[in-house]
Amino acid sequence: MDQIRIRNLKIFAYHGVYEQEKEQGQNFCVNAVLYTDTEKAGKSDDIADAVDYGAACLFIDNYMRENRFDLLEAVTRHVAEELLLAFPAIRKVELEVEKPDAPIPLRFDSVSVKTERGWHRVFIALGSNMGERLKFLERAVADLRADVCFRGIRVSDYIETAPYGGVEQDDFLNGVLEAETLYSPEGLLARLQEEERLAERKREIHWGPRTLDLDILFYDDLVLAKKELSIPHPDMKNRQFVLEPLSELAPFYVHPVYRKTVKEMLEELEETGRA
Ligand code: ATP
Ligand code: CA
Ligand code: CA
Repeated sequence: MDQIRIRNLKIFAYHGVYEQEKEQGQNFCVNAVLYTDTEKAGKSDDIADAVDYGAACLFIDNYMRENRFDLLEAVTRHVAEELLLAFPAIRKVELEVEKPDAPIPLRFDSVSVKTERGWHRVFIALGSNMGERLKFLERAVADLRADVCFRGIRVSDYIETAPYGGVEQDDFLNGVLEAETLYSPEGLLARLQEEERLAERKREIHWGPRTLDLDILFYDDLVLAKKELSIPHPDMKNRQFVLEPLSELAPFYVHPVYRKTVKEMLEELEETGRA
């Protein structure tokens, strides 16, 4: 992706752990790489189609002067996130904040913290088979829509499906949600678990009845295999109730491990189901 680079933007602000830093302030230097598609602006030569880097610099300056943090980690993280929210055409930002005069009694050029934040395309499976199933799903979707860390949410139709995994229980209502998110994979899992808790989901029987179940299916083309978090969701190729609504939203999305489209996975499952 194309880049807009800002180097050594000088800002006087009051971030720091020490009283002296909070009271007297000091110089900061910001380096930023803004990832954006410049094709449209490159063709039209119209600022309206571009990320206005002057405005971005003023935004960073203003945000860093108006807010105060103890840690460079916090400054960097917040500035990066606020930039992404204020300038929707920036897809990803690398941001480094330096303190050339950090309170260290030695000779050095500067200390800095660098971070990378961006929008990630995710697919989330939604399911409920207890109580007012549709209400649980709709409330979860509404909550995610209200969260600034999500944008461009699309939801498939909900389908009624028989339970999976051999536990005797009521039918499910299932669907899939697509979005762009600023959350990290772990942050997203925690956010979804918070939503499950709001639906008063109790973790009782594995694969048993639940008011709300939110599983991460894809996170860009990330492959992660940890006990607490496996991405892509490991069992999706065997689940019609996942592949069908997923295929409605993104039939040609390619599974990063199997290298098959969602549509192909669904067709294969339907084939073996018939066999
Ligand atoms: P399944 O994941 O097979 O559909 P489940 O949804 O019934 O089963 P849960 O009890 O909801 O399982 O979750 C158990 C744990 O699975 C969670 O605490 C979470 O840490 C872990 N997990 C691993 N990968 C994922 C993922 N991609 N999405 C959501 N949770 C995941
Ligand atoms: Ca599940
Ligand atoms: Ca789950």
